[in-house]
Amino acid sequence: MPLLTDSSLAGALDDANLAARIVVERNPRARRIGLRVDPAKGRIVLVRPPRASDRTVAAFLTSRARWIAKHLESLPPHIPFADGTVIPYRGSDYVLQLRPHERGGVWRENDAIIVTGRPEHAPRRVRDWLKQEALRVLTPATQTLATQLGVNVTRVSVRDTRSCWGSCSPDGKLSFSWRLILAPDDVLTYVAAHEVAHLKHMNHSARFWDVVEELLQTAEIDWVLARQWLRRSGAALHRYG
Ligand SMILES: [Zn+2]
Repeated sequence: MPLLTDSSLAGALDDANLAARIVVERNPRARRIGLRVDPAKGRIVLVRPPRASDRTVAAFLTSRARWIAKHLESLPPHIPFADGTVIPYRGSDYVLQLRPHERGGVWRENDAIIVTGRPEHAPRRVRDWLKQEALRVLTPATQTLATQLGVNVTRVSVRDTRSCWGSCSPDGKLSFSWRLILAPDDVLTYVAAHEVAHLKHMNHSARFWDVVEELLQTAEIDWVLARQWLRRSGAALHRYG
């Protein structure tokens, strides 16, 4: 979705800081102009029907300027992968350090994550690296849990899912949100155990939760606390990148 500031409506709002946090969604089925808050990304979506003229949309935005300001103020901001940004990795804070004149990719060094190469590619590089790390940590964690339970995991993959942290298919394919690598290890392991347990019980029955608890006992992880963490802090992980 293009930013409002990149469209012909760039000047519709007096405040450029507000305008920079609005994206335009052209919706062929929309009947009227609308605004929607996207809390995960810390922005507002302007829904634009096909027949609305620039003038009509601009007038609409001007009339809603106070509403926009009020809602954006109450939203936690989006945190870009840029030089100096602090991001969580396995539950601890790291500073992103861009080194445009060096080569070698992305790596961890003390409490920094070093990103080499051209700065405009840094966001994608960081994202790719985090996905790779998520897979590197989740794959053995999942396999260990599966062995423990005596079930077969045929594939582990990561995606950027908004609505769920993990999913599984009956034939043993497990998929996770790569953003779990930002969460503490206990939380990541809990989600892995949750999906592995579904290979035994495809529901959330009491017996299912017994399996989750049993799987996590060896690692001394309290699934109630892990689930609570996700409910409270999980949405914030979507603010990064
Ligand atoms: Zn489930």
